[in-house]
Amino acid sequence: MSPTPLKVFKFGGASLRDAAAIRNVANILALFKDTPIMIVVSAMGKSTNALEEVARAYYKRDLDTAREKLSEIHGTTMRSVAELFPDGIPGELAANINDLLVSIEWMFEDEPNESYDYDYDQIVSLGELLSSHIVSAFLNSQDLPTTWVDARDCIMTDNTYREGWVQWPETQARITKQVAPLLENGGFALTQGFIGSTSENYTTTLGREGSDYSAAIFSYCLDAAGMYIWKDVPGVLTADPRLFDNVSKIDRLSYKEAIEMTYYGAKVIHPKTIKPLQNKSIPLHVRSFIDPEAVGTIISGEAGDSYPPMVAVEKDQALVNISTRDFSFVAEHHISQLFDHITATRLQVNMMQNTAISFNIVVNDIDDRIERFQALVEKDFKTTVDRDLELITIRHYTPQVRDSMRQGKVMLLEGRLPLTLQMVMKDVPVIKRRDEPVVGWNAKVS
Ligand code: ADP
Ligand code: ASP
Ligand code: MG
Repeated sequence: MSPTPLKVFKFGGASLRDAAAIRNVANILALFKDTPIMIVVSAMGKSTNALEEVARAYYKRDLDTAREKLSEIHGTTMRSVAELFPDGIPGELAANINDLLVSIEWMFEDEPNESYDYDYDQIVSLGELLSSHIVSAFLNSQDLPTTWVDARDCIMTDNTYREGWVQWPETQARITKQVAPLLENGGFALTQGFIGSTSENYTTTLGREGSDYSAAIFSYCLDAAGMYIWKDVPGVLTADPRLFDNVSKIDRLSYKEAIEMTYYGAKVIHPKTIKPLQNKSIPLHVRSFIDPEAVGTIISGEAGDSYPPMVAVEKDQALVNISTRDFSFVAEHHISQLFDHITATRLQVNMMQNTAISFNIVVNDIDDRIERFQALVEKDFKTTVDRDLELITIRHYTPQVRDSMRQGKVMLLEGRLPLTLQMVMKDVPVIKRRDEPVVGWNAKVS
């Protein structure tokens, strides 16, 4: 008899937000008791955001705030743990949690590293390390035997902290050697999403929301039959239900379409997730942890080409206008020089357009990256920045959906291709009434 094909399951922050949610995860896994499963978990709830605050406070040497925030995270975590183990917390779990917290407290005794990104990764990785120990201990207590695996022994990256670049041959070799044998005879193994390690054993992270990507790396390296991500939505929807009312579920999506949508901000899947799966034709199932037996959305190479309009909204965008100081044309050599600076400051460009004497880029407004870019180009170029913008991308756009997206907004830049329309928008303070007739789509009023 051939062995049951292996699956990779990823549980995100929402599916692990408290003790009840973690019990629900165990119930889902009980439905798959006879399947070998590699489980990849994110940090619980929004704890990564809270850990980012710890990292920022530590970097500013505001140790009181750093300690206070860390102790809040500890408190919330321990409340869930106490609920999960009403008869007493297993000694090994208590020791693991304690060791993790002590390692961060020790960091506070030292001066911050020169590189904020390095310190960030050492602190923020705590979220996934904690949740993985907790969930694994809980599954073991529920008669679901699970082996805890340290993702830092598996996913090797370069030393680009906060955006570790995966070293595929080394990662493949480690996963084949260390993880595949654990799943050979069925059962579960569980590891952290989002984190990896350099060859010198320093912890790295793969970029915010990167646990989906971790699960795709394991799926690729283990030749999984399918990857499943468990969400608080029924599948991939035509737009984010937090922002729009009349959205619907898409049953099947091609890899290509999924890459297009996620790259421009459909937050349901991390954009880097799709490529490793596509390379090995591994289907990606997006399912609801609230209704685990419903099929959700299947992303594969087999989906057709006919889709309804789909909208992705990317917030925190900035439009940077760059012009030459001497009114000379923006020529190729300028653009190449500008791109060197864009790469050096890790600006992520979502759109660009040029005129005779100016070059415009729309970028994710992260930390002080724009200011650092401006400082680098200052000698030769004048720059102006328009912040707090939204980039709206509509795939398979129709005039009706396009018009409904423009309501109450000022458009600063537009780009059109046969299947994709992109608009960079700014809010105008117009209060939209709920009882207005629906034309195209209905933006939610907050
Ligand atoms: P996780 O718990 O795995 O981290 P996320 O919160 O990152 O989950 O992703 C799920 C959320 O993504 C949903 O709650 C939804 O608001 C949002 N989302 C954005 N765009 C879409 C879309 N096109 N389809 C479904 N959900 C979307
Ligand atoms: N916990 C990380 C984050 O919130 C990674 C993830 O959840 O995917 O960004
Ligand atoms: Mg997420």
